[in-house]
Amino acid sequence: MEASLNAYQDEQPPLQAENFYRKREKNSKLSGVKKDIEKLYEAVPQLVKVFKIKEKIGEGTFSSVYLATAQQQAGCEEKMALKHLIPTSHPLRIAAELQCLTIAGGQDNVMGVKYCFRKNDHVVIVMPYLEHESFLDILNSLSFEEVREYMFNLFKALRRIHHFGIVHRDVKPSNFLYNRQLKEYALVDFGLAQGTPDTKIELLRVVQSESQQEGSVHHSVQRSVFGERNFNIHSSTYQESPTIKLIKQSKVMDVASRKLATKKKISTKAANNGAARKAANSCPAILTCDCYATDRVCSVCLSRRQQVAPRAGTPGFRAPEVLTKCPTQTTAIDMWSAGIIFLSLLSGRYPFYKASDDLTALAQIMTIRGSRETIQAAKTFGKSVLCTKEVPAQDLRTLCERLRGTNSSCAKSTSDMHTNSLYEPALAIETDKKVEFASQPLEEKLQRLKNCHEGDNDLEIKITEKATDLKGWHRVPDEAYDLLDKLLDLNPATRITAKEALLHHFFKDISQ
Ligand code: ADP
Ligand code: MG
Ligand code: ZN
Repeated sequence: MEASLNAYQDEQPPLQAENFYRKREKNSKLSGVKKDIEKLYEAVPQLVKVFKIKEKIGEGTFSSVYLATAQQQAGCEEKMALKHLIPTSHPLRIAAELQCLTIAGGQDNVMGVKYCFRKNDHVVIVMPYLEHESFLDILNSLSFEEVREYMFNLFKALRRIHHFGIVHRDVKPSNFLYNRQLKEYALVDFGLAQGTPDTKIELLRVVQSESQQEGSVHHSVQRSVFGERNFNIHSSTYQESPTIKLIKQSKVMDVASRKLATKKKISTKAANNGAARKAANSCPAILTCDCYATDRVCSVCLSRRQQVAPRAGTPGFRAPEVLTKCPTQTTAIDMWSAGIIFLSLLSGRYPFYKASDDLTALAQIMTIRGSRETIQAAKTFGKSVLCTKEVPAQDLRTLCERLRGTNSSCAKSTSDMHTNSLYEPALAIETDKKVEFASQPLEEKLQRLKNCHEGDNDLEIKITEKATDLKGWHRVPDEAYDLLDKLLDLNPATRITAKEALLHHFFKDISQ
């Protein structure tokens, strides 16, 4: 242990030099932020009179978010969050995001909006500021009760937006702000939201039809939702997975779009979907191909029309019907993402799935939910999935307790966890050292401590005491795993809704 500790230290740069570089990096970042703030004041001069912009708190592909203070009449300062959307955002997309906030926001843990400023193509959305934790920082210190409250409040927010016919499409911890001390929560970021067919958000209907048009006119498969964040440019142009494939069936041909068809390794279509059936009926000749279930794609298939389906979101949080490009996607996709968050909270691992493309993400889902089960569910929404290897479904409690290291009955199996080749690589648990340390099972941490202080009896006692300080994690009720199972239902038609989740036994003594 000592030797390895020294070796580790040798690799580090001398402390002074490290500090120097860190400071320099921080300074250059600071001056970068200062410049950004100045530019924002220039672009939207109305802000100058009202706000003191303090710092940048978020930066994504499609926006920058700043913390600002506003002078109130009473003389006190109020903190606000200013979201500056990138000027190339589609005006309709911006308007739809605003409408979600104004109509559904401000209640039930859904972020509201205070003002909106615009000059030319620059738009700034002003929201109440909610100071929040980083999910990764607190993940392993949360008590079981805190996790229960967190999930309850997430479902409250989802119930509200789903009631308005909003599909968020990007439910993940960084879009669900959590203030641990105040026990305040806020669902943010409607930048990718879409409407259900009966949505109460007018503009989401417009966004929908525009994006469909865009999909068929320009044939831009990767941008079926305009403004969609392209998290994974590589996978959207070329997808390959050694283990699973989505098989294209040979019925639908869109002659007009053939000219536009791009070379794709893997593509999909919905055999049982109404629109697809219609297309099949109107198709004059049905071409058959000979590449079904082989590892190559024939020229007939290469010339087929691409399936256009919304694919927004973050791969590790995408529901199976999103990953397989099912064209009819409902509010159930948000419930799947909530299930993935719950899985992280119960297992103490984040991100739980780290996939760079959709098929890898699907393979990772199979390692938990079973390959046969996944294939079967995909069939119900009209997708054929081919998998070269059969993997069984796992018991959720056993899995979570094993990863968290709270299962006393499997004390011996925590060590074989790393050699369990069946699920370890497919799970793709973050190998980043920082994350790995933070998410190390408690038992492993204790073992390490024990190893380096062998024979030290005082410490033995302390460790034993520590092991019992489990913040409720040693008696997680069956209801928790039952709810998790219903959230991670592979079939969107039977997946639990937010309304139902709030009524689940798991929350029986929380006031609604
Ligand atoms: P993007 O579309 O770029 O992801 P978000 O709306 O998700 O933009 O905001 C990005 C980040 O900014 C969030 O993850 C959060 O950390 C911070 N943020 C957004 N809105 C607020 C708010 N009202 N209060 C505090 N922080 C916020
Ligand atoms: Mg976001
Ligand atoms: Zn073929």
